[in-house]
Amino acid sequence: MLRGASGADCEVWMKAIRVHEFGGPEVLKLEEIETPQPQDGQVLVRLRAVGVNPVDTYIRAGAYAAKPPLPYTPGSDGAGVIEQVGAGVERWQAGARVYVAGAVTGTYAEFAVCEAAKVHPLPEHVSFAQGAGVNVPYATAYRALFQKAAAQPGETVLIHGATGGVGIAATQLARAAGLRVIGTGGTAEGRRLVAEQGAEHVLDHRQPNYLEELMSLTGGRGVDVILEMLANVNLDHDLEVLAKKGRVVVIGNRGRVEIDPRKAMTRDASIHGMTLMNVTADEATGIHAALVAGLENGTLQPVVGKELSLAEAAASHRAVMEPGAFGKIVLLP
Ligand code: NAP
Repeated sequence: MLRGASGADCEVWMKAIRVHEFGGPEVLKLEEIETPQPQDGQVLVRLRAVGVNPVDTYIRAGAYAAKPPLPYTPGSDGAGVIEQVGAGVERWQAGARVYVAGAVTGTYAEFAVCEAAKVHPLPEHVSFAQGAGVNVPYATAYRALFQKAAAQPGETVLIHGATGGVGIAATQLARAAGLRVIGTGGTAEGRRLVAEQGAEHVLDHRQPNYLEELMSLTGGRGVDVILEMLANVNLDHDLEVLAKKGRVVVIGNRGRVEIDPRKAMTRDASIHGMTLMNVTADEATGIHAALVAGLENGTLQPVVGKELSLAEAAASHRAVMEPGAFGKIVLLP
């Protein structure tokens, strides 16, 4: 046993998901490895829940631009309790409830070492499972809405793919900021969920005429902002339903698409790309200050649709890539 800063003992060995070769979900193996130790400026978090994001599957498949050296433990998101603090860390003490925004050692594990600046307070009334759903989804939605699209109160936003992690986060953030929200979802259950989060209308992106419906909902004017979860399918059509000076933020994309740039020209429209990895440390500080405030006052309430055990990581990777999203998928170590 190791002695934590709390005086509590923490195990020398921990369970973690390890990837020894890039490939399908089956390369996610549950193993026992040594519990990592926090260095200067770091903390050790005992994870109670782990957030599963689509990007974890791209990295696991070896399809992502930044590949970790093998073997590695996946995961950037999670929530739990600080177990130990490294030298020079004054902001945190053992026992604090936190959510994690990136981990040095990966979050698909019982413990993760994190930079002290990349953990944030998790209010008592927010469950660990909900906390595991904060980082990537909410930071992405915040960045897209406010730092990329510069969305303003009173504007209308189409959240094109509102039923998943980012979509639910964006719906809550946009409503809190006074935007009119129109979402889309592929299942009746998912669309109901998005409506409960504050969307005024939720359209079915599997129906052929749903964008015509969108135009009539806006009186033919179109929407000011589109948060796009599947640009390779939708980007060209998005440009047809944008109002003048509209902005599309490409959040998700899984292939190539042909667009007619004239549709953007005639509207003075802009297309913004984004990846959360490009957020600077200062920008991240601002984003998480906003998210923590929203969690504290109850504006932001992550929705957990599926809980699986850590051993079921492979199943979680299959599930997150399937249609029929319903909030977040989390693993419970
Ligand atoms: P998720 O929880 O798996 O949700 C996927 C969403 O895409 C669901 O709402 C799904 O709706 C929707 N969708 C499926 N078909 C669609 C279509 N034809 N048109 C519009 N939406 C459609 O994933 P997530 O965590 O929300 O992430 C969403 C996407 O953004 C993923 O591709 C992810 O890789 C990407 N992402 C990018 C960044 C970044 O930094 N750029 C950060 C986070 C996520 P139904 O299942 O209801 O059909």
